[in-house]
Amino acid sequence: MMIPDQKTLFETWPILGRMNREEEVVWVNPDKLPVSTAKERSELSMKDIDDAEARLKRFAPFIMRAFPETEPRNGLIESELVRIPAMREILNDKYHACLKGTLLLKKDSHLAIAGSVKARGGIYEVLKHTEELAIANGLLTEEDLKGGAQSENAYSALGDESARKIFSQYKVQVGSTGNLGMSIGIMSAAIGYDAIVHMSADAKQWKKDLLRARGVTVIEYEADYGEAVKNGRKQSDADPMSYFVDDENSRDLFLGYAVAAKRLVGQLDEQGVTVDGEHPLFVYIPCGVGGAPGGITFGLKQVFGDNVHCFFVEPVQAPCMLAGMASGLQNAISVQDIGLTGLTHADGLAVGRASGFVGGVMKDFLSGEFTVRDAELYDFMRELLASENIFLEPSACASFMGAAKICVSEETRHYIEAQGLAGKMGNASHIVWATGGSLVPESIREQYRNTYL
Ligand SMILES: *Cc1c(COP(=O)(O)O)cnc(C)c1O
Repeated sequence: MMIPDQKTLFETWPILGRMNREEEVVWVNPDKLPVSTAKERSELSMKDIDDAEARLKRFAPFIMRAFPETEPRNGLIESELVRIPAMREILNDKYHACLKGTLLLKKDSHLAIAGSVKARGGIYEVLKHTEELAIANGLLTEEDLKGGAQSENAYSALGDESARKIFSQYKVQVGSTGNLGMSIGIMSAAIGYDAIVHMSADAKQWKKDLLRARGVTVIEYEADYGEAVKNGRKQSDADPMSYFVDDENSRDLFLGYAVAAKRLVGQLDEQGVTVDGEHPLFVYIPCGVGGAPGGITFGLKQVFGDNVHCFFVEPVQAPCMLAGMASGLQNAISVQDIGLTGLTHADGLAVGRASGFVGGVMKDFLSGEFTVRDAELYDFMRELLASENIFLEPSACASFMGAAKICVSEETRHYIEAQGLAGKMGNASHIVWATGGSLVPESIREQYRNTYL
């Protein structure tokens, strides 16, 4: 598609002009539909999420065997939901956030195996592919797909040396800015695949080192994420024994993320947090290419309907999803088209062009977006560490911008008014989705703590 010149873009969609000037912006999605209508229009449904959840459960015996750290949760990869009242005070005092309800942190930063939200989607996709290959190679039967004790043994046996030998004939490849490569690489290597990760220039050295230590082949690019994906896909497509994880278009990845929502129901219950017509839930999630926040949002909207309000947060230099959604041009437009570099300290979010698939789904479901300057990511990081003693990587801290601004920005105040929530904000709960950090080595944490932009 031909993208209009910048002057035309900025005249047609003034918010793109403000993004070009690196302003922090707030955007409310004018196309959001009531969930009942949005669900009818969607190609995916709750049934697909249930299917993904069941598959993860089938694989639990294998996961427990390959990664003993998942034993406390019986092989389920899940994170805690915790209250962060001291951070709420900081947001109110320093950022004048005026948050009245409860503030919670969803610690996907501490998910087992990959230490980031990618442990949901990435690992799920590798497992789904593995199930197909296992059936094709006679390691699993159709009967095993139904569950039960027999099935548990069969899935556990996928960790046997004989099974690994079969999987070692196959390749799994992925393009990544870092964390997706870690989740796909670690899981693929654990199963026995020949794993190849194509890393963009943004990827941190320690992530490449960690992967190589696990036997993963890391190919480095001096170009950005889009280029790493393009090359990875090309190499994979040329090899019939190779499977490419396509972060931009994968329905499987998306559904793996969506399972988070079903598990959140019980966790909110445990925290005594009510979500209903009188008690709205606001959720803020950092966005890169869109798969993780899109999948989680899709799941949350299926489960909590119109009572949940989901917002994405992107860096001012790489707001690819916002550029696509605000203009309606979706993945036809890149951040470079609006005069941005796409370069950001938030390596997990350093994406220049969003997923068209996710943007198309989010058009009906998403409440809005915020953008954030890199300098503030480090401030949020230090403040969370000081107030709650929880470490997150800078990318993950983007979500705090949503909580800081939801009650005070003109755009979101208007949204709250229009949704009939003005009198209910005292009963609201806010979840800041923490998407990564627990695997960051201490020396790098020290660097982050001392970074002031
Ligand atoms: C990948 C990632 C995200 C965003 O996920 P996308 O699927 O790229 O939108 C957010 N935070 C962190 C730490 C990530 O690694």
